[in-house]
Amino acid sequence: MPIRPPIHRAVGRREKRERDHDYQRKRDPVARAFYRSKRWQTERAAFLHDHPLCAECDQHGVIRPASVVDHIDPHGGDEAVFWDRNRWQALCASCHGKKTASHDGGFGNAPR
Ligand SMILES: [Zn+2]
Repeated sequence: MPIRPPIHRAVGRREKRERDHDYQRKRDPVARAFYRSKRWQTERAAFLHDHPLCAECDQHGVIRPASVVDHIDPHGGDEAVFWDRNRWQALCASCHGKKTASHDGGFGNAPR
């Protein structure tokens, strides 16, 4: 069985996994717990079942399956806003990535 060669990394440079972890924690410390909850897993799956197509693509006449439940407006860690299904929309990963990048600057950059 082949063995993966060690990855060279400059001294002091941390793994991407560690950097991503810190970024997520800084980005939304309260909502992190919501996203990891059983309730979110269940409600997310139910919402995608009810809304199987990407809402953003649909506006452009494209039919694409949704894979992400997006909060239309940022919830900012507010529990009531977070769980309000009327503020959710189903998006494909591509549309969600574009929206997130335009909202928070993307690639770890400061919000615009
Ligand atoms: Zn889409």
